[in-house]
Amino acid sequence: MPGTRRPLVSGNWKMHHNHFEAIQMVQKLAYILNPADHDVVDVSVHPPFTDIRSVQTVIESDEMRLVLGAQHCHFEERGAFTGEVSPGMLAKLNVALVIVGHSERREVFGETDDDVRLKAAAVLANGMTPIFCCGETREEREAGGTDAKVTGQVKAGLAGLSQDQMAGLVIAYEPIWAIGTGLTATPEDAQAACRVVRGVVAEGWGQSTADSVRIQYGGSVKPVNAPDLMMQPDIDGLLVGGASLDPDEFARIVAYHRLIG
Ligand code: PEP
Repeated sequence: MPGTRRPLVSGNWKMHHNHFEAIQMVQKLAYILNPADHDVVDVSVHPPFTDIRSVQTVIESDEMRLVLGAQHCHFEERGAFTGEVSPGMLAKLNVALVIVGHSERREVFGETDDDVRLKAAAVLANGMTPIFCCGETREEREAGGTDAKVTGQVKAGLAGLSQDQMAGLVIAYEPIWAIGTGLTATPEDAQAACRVVRGVVAEGWGQSTADSVRIQYGGSVKPVNAPDLMMQPDIDGLLVGGASLDPDEFARIVAYHRLIG
């Protein structure tokens, strides 16, 4: 039932901020956010791997109400995977949310639907929640292929998950043409795609599961467009890249709720 899903605003820092800068970032963010924000919105930060231990320490020692996230992981628990980090390693650092299948991972690093499926399952097996990303390219949108693309990605990437696993999941609809470009989907277009995503979940896992799953929009979210996006019935949160690097700007995005009541 729409309205009972707790909003989630997530900051994906990508490859920005060393661990000293990361500590300053979360300290400033925690100072700017006020208790009313945390009462109504979950806020997560997704630093690079090298920052996670430092950010964990500061969140826990200062009892901040920020949720610790990661941007990526491997699906295997251990082994000869040079440069990779396992889901168990992240869980040990009290990471709660892991982004899987971000378009930059898919497009730049060649992750397939099958890789993403294995990662989502591995994240869940380690007691964490995936933020599962999907979204179309500009060419796919212009060819009228948005619905088919996100439907295919959701079905392929989440195949085999149980209703319970799905119900707690976060899915981020991120049109690739809007990521880091300054172009944002209109609230109506974003709503339409998020509705398609929820429909795919309903078809595969039942309506009550679909009513529980949280769907974020991502793609050049800014303080100015956040309220209109968050007023859409199937948008339960925002995945924010560039604007999450500035604590003031990110906090103003989180404060969308003050404008929409
Ligand atoms: C992202 O990295 O997921 C993203 C949406 O980036 P940006 O907000 O910069 O478009």
